[in-house]
Amino acid sequence: MLGLMQDRPLLISQMIEHAALNHADAEIVSRSVEGPIHRYTYKDCAVRCRRLANALTKLGTEQGDTIGTLAWNGYRHLELYFGVASMGSICHTLNPRLSQEQLVYIINHAEDKFFFTDLTFVPLLEAVADKLPTVKQFIIMTDRAHMPKTKLANVLCYEELLDAENDDYKWPLFDENTACSLCYTSGTTGNPKGVLFSHRSTTLHSYASCMPDALGLSSMDVMLPVVPMFHANAWGIPYAAAMCGTKLVMPGCAMDGESIYELMESEKVNLSAGVPTVWMMLLGYLKQNNKTFSTMKATIIGGSAVSRSMIETFRNDYGVDVLHAWGMTETSPLGTACRMKFKHKNLSNDELNSLNLKQGRAVYGVEMKIVDDKGEQLPWDGVKSGNLLVRGPWICSGYFKDEGGQVVDADGWMDTGDVANIDPDGFMQITDRSKDVIKSGGEWISSIDVENEAVGCKGIAEAAVIAIPDPKWDERPLVIAVKEAGSDVTMEQVIAHLAKTLAKWQLPDDVIFVEELPHGATGKLQKNILRETYKDYKPSVP
Ligand code: AMP
Repeated sequence: MLGLMQDRPLLISQMIEHAALNHADAEIVSRSVEGPIHRYTYKDCAVRCRRLANALTKLGTEQGDTIGTLAWNGYRHLELYFGVASMGSICHTLNPRLSQEQLVYIINHAEDKFFFTDLTFVPLLEAVADKLPTVKQFIIMTDRAHMPKTKLANVLCYEELLDAENDDYKWPLFDENTACSLCYTSGTTGNPKGVLFSHRSTTLHSYASCMPDALGLSSMDVMLPVVPMFHANAWGIPYAAAMCGTKLVMPGCAMDGESIYELMESEKVNLSAGVPTVWMMLLGYLKQNNKTFSTMKATIIGGSAVSRSMIETFRNDYGVDVLHAWGMTETSPLGTACRMKFKHKNLSNDELNSLNLKQGRAVYGVEMKIVDDKGEQLPWDGVKSGNLLVRGPWICSGYFKDEGGQVVDADGWMDTGDVANIDPDGFMQITDRSKDVIKSGGEWISSIDVENEAVGCKGIAEAAVIAIPDPKWDERPLVIAVKEAGSDVTMEQVIAHLAKTLAKWQLPDDVIFVEELPHGATGKLQKNILRETYKDYKPSVP
């Protein structure tokens, strides 16, 4: 027997209209690409989303069309998130840090019909426009006064488009499984693959994100997402924020420590989110300039493993809690969050910092398990690690246009490509990407563990650990590190530091110092490049 409850589809349009009605005066503050701080409310945002939908309809947009964006975190990008999806089209965000070839491939693969760009990326598009046959029109996200001289043909001005429209647009009702946004992931091999989110998956993901045991967003928060809107939908924060009327503070293109800090202070930000590399910049700025936070309470860190020293610095020096979270573009992205349980109430700061190194517990809606190479399930003992598999209503079931073949097994499990252990309390800890694990003498060495310890060594700013071939042990770890400015730390000191916590066989065979490490478009270390560079390296430790 079916229940007798209303079957209203879960649609993105409801989020922005809910915010407009129930949090009409909650603010969205953006550092605009043109320079000044822009300030308006959810109500204003909803009006402009409707104007945008009217404009796009006039231009010939139909349901199911993909609309590309190259844009920073800002109010106009937010309007595209809500406006494009709510009318039944697909908001396709692109990462401007990708190579030109990758951008061209992705835009053509997605068949973007219209393309919206911030001023910053006009030159990038000019360079490739003749290779983009599907794009009918480029819309530059600025006003008439700031419109650049451009070689792009078929150009429109965003503000002019919106000015010409009226405020009324009736959002259509359609199947909640309709696609709403598209984001390509770039693995280290093969072409980028598109993850196609639906209204339903995005809505459920947003509900789950708001739970106190997940990101815990509420109308009491002032959230500054540093994580870009072109990376996994800014971890779903724009949607979750609209659901609960959270004040949003958007940093635009000014991602340096000083600009982020200024915005945090002036807008009374208490919650933020980003990858470890951006926090390294912010913490560096605070230290060099003797600054403290007046309102910041917590920051969500994910995308790469966070080190103990970063957790300690945030908590012990600045009174800011780190919420370590794990996910992937394929998981919308939130999979786990490292929230304590009642039994952890009396943990010391030191114990808390240790537990925070784990990526945390599955958010309700996400199921996870770890399996060995034969697919046998492994126990949750916090020790045995294996391939991490997940399934749930906001986990991808296949890539756009069937690229990459079968993504889930017969029971719906998706292999994340991560290696992890899970403790009896359900806290998952990533020990590696499966391709980064160092297999030495039949034992596995977690490159993340060694990296975490290495950055705890005085004088080390950043470290990457990779496997180098070894005739006796198959593979041995090599540390490649960046020194802090002015430091004269040596290889011997780093190894002595690591020896305090790591077993002898886990210690690296060498430490190489470099000026900088290669990072990919989403801030992750590019270990494939390091592996290629150092494949013939002969370590100095006998
Ligand atoms: P992306 O789809 O670009 O967001 O990348 C997803 C991958 O980032 C995951 O499969 C992990 O390998 C890595 N990742 C995300 N969050 C974390 C985390 N908290 N700790 C370690 N690795 C992470």
